[in-house]
Amino acid sequence: MGLALLLAVFFAARHLGLSEASRAQSRAASGREQKVVAIDAGHGGNDPGKVGVNGSLEKDINLAVAERLKRYLEQSDVQVVMTREEDKGLYRDRDQRKKMADMKKRCQVINKAEPDAVVSIHQNSYPQEDVSGGQVFYYRDSGEGRRLAERIQERFSLLSGGENGRQAKSNDSYYLLLHVESPVVIVECGFLSNWAEARRLADEEYQDRLAWTIHMGIMEYLNGAGARAAEITEKGETS
Ligand SMILES: [Zn+2]
Repeated sequence: MGLALLLAVFFAARHLGLSEASRAQSRAASGREQKVVAIDAGHGGNDPGKVGVNGSLEKDINLAVAERLKRYLEQSDVQVVMTREEDKGLYRDRDQRKKMADMKKRCQVINKAEPDAVVSIHQNSYPQEDVSGGQVFYYRDSGEGRRLAERIQERFSLLSGGENGRQAKSNDSYYLLLHVESPVVIVECGFLSNWAEARRLADEEYQDRLAWTIHMGIMEYLNGAGARAAEITEKGETS
């Protein structure tokens, strides 16, 4: 990597880290009463995502979990913005590079909403059949993203009865993590390469439990974030 590129990456990362706190403060200062959460159901349309050992498609499971999660959040008085609500990508037919067009559009929709938190729903796959369990990813330099990821990851441990030894993991290359300006996580709900888990992931009742699990993690994060913002405001007033 050339020095110029290295510096560009360094400053981009720095910029992201510094502006995170100020963006959170401006959201708090805007006096918006309702919390806003953006849900991104990964893939869709001509992009099925991972294909399960049982033939189930990642894009369908992502949307099913996203729709249930939307309902749970709305019941908790959270305003929800969805990047897609049907089996469609966010590209246009005339787009040459459909995957890139799709990812850019998702980020545009999310950033425009200035959400307090963002979850992108996905399913995983791995060459070894015995690998299973949910895992949450956050952008390496985002403290808020990490907090959100950890709350949801803890909830996954409860879902699996403590068997899920996985931990929230940082990442510095996923497109969405790099281009979304709010605290954002990618939730890989489970492995479609594992027979038992693929069967569960295709089951409506389990999809509902997944949605509830993610919803609980988000609510814990939002309540904690509210307390942190109040603390910042208080310190600002007394100084
Ligand atoms: Zn995916």
